[in-house]
Amino acid sequence: MFLLKKGDWEIKKTKKKGWGIFSKIKIGADIVIADYLGMVIKTADYDLENDKKGLYLMYYTDRASIYPDLSRPSPHLINHSCSPNCWMYPYRGHTLFFTLQSIDPGEEFTISYLLSPDDGSCNPCVHVCKCDSENCTGSMHLSKDKYEKWQRFQNTEKKKTKVAKFIFGKNLPMLSSYPKTVPHNPIYTIMCSA
Ligand SMILES: [Zn+2]
Ligand SMILES: [Zn+2]
Repeated sequence: MFLLKKGDWEIKKTKKKGWGIFSKIKIGADIVIADYLGMVIKTADYDLENDKKGLYLMYYTDRASIYPDLSRPSPHLINHSCSPNCWMYPYRGHTLFFTLQSIDPGEEFTISYLLSPDDGSCNPCVHVCKCDSENCTGSMHLSKDKYEKWQRFQNTEKKKTKVAKFIFGKNLPMLSSYPKTVPHNPIYTIMCSA
C-alpha cells in the first residue's frame, strides 16, 4: 500500500511497460512512500511454473513470501528501471519503498527488481528491461557482483529490526508505525551506477 496521501500519486499507462505509478507532487529524497503488502504464503508452495516472470512475489522470511492483491493499485505496479528513483528498505520483515532522489510532479516511480543473476536457469528469459535509461543493461537481472553486494547489505540491515508477526494464508497487516525516512547509504549509488 502507498504511504503517500491519496491524490499524491496516480496509476497511468506507460509507453512500453504497461501500467506505472506516477507522482502528482514533489517529494524529497529518502522518503518512505510504500509498504509491499499482500497475502503471506509459504514460498515452497508457490507455483513458479505458472508464473514465469515471478515478479510480484516478495521475500518475507526464509519460508514466507508476500503476494500482493493484483486487482488493486499497489506498489507491485511500480516498474523496474536500471536507474531507479526509488529503492527497497527491509524493515521489520516488511519491504518499504523509498525515494532515492527528489521526485517531480508527473515523474514515474521506478525501482530495481533486484533479480538474482541469470545463471541460465531463466530460459527463455522474460526479464527484458526497456527502461531507456543511460545505464540500461537490457535485463532486470543483476550482475553477480551487484547481487552479492546487495545481499550482504540487506542481510545486515534485516537484523536491525525484528520481523513483524504474520499468519500464513492471511494478509500481512500494516505496521503500527512507519519510519518517515531512510538513512543515506553509499550502497544505493553503487547499485545504480553502470
Ligand atoms: Zn530472466
Ligand atoms: Zn533498463
